[in-house]
Amino acid sequence: MTRVVLTLALSLVVAAAAAAQSPSCAPTKPDMLGPFYKPDAPERAVTGHGLVVNGTVRSTRGCAALPGARLEWWSADGRGDYQDELRATQRTGGEGAFRYETVAPGRYPGRPPHLHVKISAAGHRTLVTQLYPRDGQRAITTDFVLVAD
Ligand code: FE
Repeated sequence: MTRVVLTLALSLVVAAAAAAQSPSCAPTKPDMLGPFYKPDAPERAVTGHGLVVNGTVRSTRGCAALPGARLEWWSADGRGDYQDELRATQRTGGEGAFRYETVAPGRYPGRPPHLHVKISAAGHRTLVTQLYPRDGQRAITTDFVLVAD
């Protein structure tokens, strides 16, 4: 009995010590690249109006903000067609923050409306994921968490 209690107490101490180490963020879930990605989109933070996405790019290591991370965006227009005008490359600022503004994406066969984004930062695995705005949603606030190498 004493031994069981001691073991339990010890495991609680170990768990508390682990929790006290530098905080970590859960990595953002990847999503399909899809067939419409093109590299080298122009550098810009606005490709239209109707939907604003903002947040911070972070590392799983200590949740640290990642200045200079590169975000590449691509999405369909209101009719569900991909347009080069709706492609952009941008970098996070000194605090790891970004703001991107574009048109609300339309539906195309087999998919709910979505934005694609590919995010890369030195010392981290490149993340490819998607955002799914609800009907009529005009703003999305979200952080992207990249897995540290
Ligand atoms: Fe798509």
